[in-house]
Amino acid sequence: MDEKKTAIITGASRGIGRATAVELAKTGYFVIINFKSNETAAAETLKLVQSAGGDGEIFQFDVADNVQTKDAVKAITERHKNIQVLINNAGINADGLFMLLGEEEWDSVINTSLKGFYNITKPVLREMVRRKCGSIVSVSSLSALMPNRGQANYAAAKAGIIAASRALATEVARFGIRVNLVAPGLIETDMIKDAPVAEIKKMIPMARLGKPEEVANVIRFLCSNDASYMTGQVLGINGGIC
Ligand code: NAD
Repeated sequence: MDEKKTAIITGASRGIGRATAVELAKTGYFVIINFKSNETAAAETLKLVQSAGGDGEIFQFDVADNVQTKDAVKAITERHKNIQVLINNAGINADGLFMLLGEEEWDSVINTSLKGFYNITKPVLREMVRRKCGSIVSVSSLSALMPNRGQANYAAAKAGIIAASRALATEVARFGIRVNLVAPGLIETDMIKDAPVAEIKKMIPMARLGKPEEVANVIRFLCSNDASYMTGQVLGINGGIC
């Protein structure tokens, strides 16, 4: 059993989740690196965490699966008693015009981001309420606020976690738990490998994509005491799109 301050990061095998795991480890958190299927990539994240002077552990579970996630949180909290931070980062996209969007594309995107938020936040919250402290940061998207064509499922999922987080923030503030979100614009990760980057850059005042580390830095801030009077907020990280 371990009392080190611990952060759980979902979908931490690559991209924004990986950068966040490394960033939180640098500030002294023991990091739980969740992955769904790519164990090698998750192990690579752990190596980066350790090279940055931190430590962590990898845990396989699918956030869209309620039973799997609940069992995983039970196993995590049996070993790590001091869960102070939860980063709801796992997410997928499956773009398509609404008229052509299949049920599978709708369900998989909603189940990962929105149902996933429910599946993991609920059991983790129980621990945080018991200890009367905690910070939850969820990764929404600019798409929730300025939806693009072809992204009805993704925009709905990402807007849903904003609404759910803000409602939750009002419920748990009295227990010393803060609930915030980031809404990244276009960030250089595998998720946007097929996006028309040259076209997109023309719409970004800073004329470049963001880096995963630039999102991780804001997440680190939201988790820290520097953000001690912030809850229910959504911070945009998008190179100036407003
Ligand atoms: P990514 O595809 O590199 O990473 C997504 C991570 O989530 C992967 O590690 C993947 O394995 C994991 N994941 C997916 N489904 C999962 C599940 N069911 N259970 C557990 N893990 C699962 O992309 P990214 O850009 O790093 O995405 C991270 C988050 O940021 C996502 O929620 C995404 O929607 C959001 N986001 C990304 C951008 C962008 O431009 N890249 C912009 C706004 C928001």
